[in-house]
Amino acid sequence: MLRKIAFLGGTFNPVHHGHLRLALDLVNIVGFEQVRLVPCHLPTHRQQPSVSSDMRASMVGQAIAGCHVLALDRRELERGTATYSVDTLLELRRELGDDVSLSMIMGTDAYLGLPRWHRWRELLSLAHLVVVERPGYSLASHGELAEYDRQNTAELDALDNAAYGSIVHLSVRLLDISATQIRALIARGQSTQYLLPESVRHFISKHGLYSADAPTC
Ligand code: ATP
Repeated sequence: MLRKIAFLGGTFNPVHHGHLRLALDLVNIVGFEQVRLVPCHLPTHRQQPSVSSDMRASMVGQAIAGCHVLALDRRELERGTATYSVDTLLELRRELGDDVSLSMIMGTDAYLGLPRWHRWRELLSLAHLVVVERPGYSLASHGELAEYDRQNTAELDALDNAAYGSIVHLSVRLLDISATQIRALIARGQSTQYLLPESVRHFISKHGLYSADAPTC
């Protein structure tokens, strides 16, 4: 059986219990040795985040402190250019070698946008895609992505036996939390308690992030 490492990319604006619980659930279900949280620098598929890359990464760092199976991976910030997952996977693959099973985790919301990603058809030559069902999003039954999905979907044990190449769909019970919801609560001056780690809430309040009069950076 191969060693299994995963990466979960996102804007993490801010990181919340939905992301963290998902990563830990996948450690338990799949047996990942480590899940790396990779904040993106300049996302190419969506609007620029209102909070700097460094601050978003700091919040991830604080959120995972003391949890040895989760790690903050700053490589996309250090690259300093637009974020393409294919570049991240190329780098990870170079570092890990060919004998490690590498998985890229994403929710259905992110998966539905896959055909708009840079060199998206190359992703499976570098890693597996682990797609977790996110409430409110579902895959269409036909079209380019549906066809790609049908051709490449495999059972969970594909992650044990090959280093890359399969799409695995998992239905994990996700916490219904989004960063959008958290930003809206803060902008309205309402509590975000229990939605994200206290250390991250403290960071947000210390730096005045997301409130209506907060500076954007
Ligand atoms: P926003 O509300 O700003 O779009 P988000 O909460 O969806 O943010 P992202 O940083 O965009 O968070 O998400 C990174 C990854 O984590 C994506 O693949 C997304 O599907 C997944 N994800 C986001 N929220 C959850 C959640 N509550 N449970 C599990 N996965 C999640």
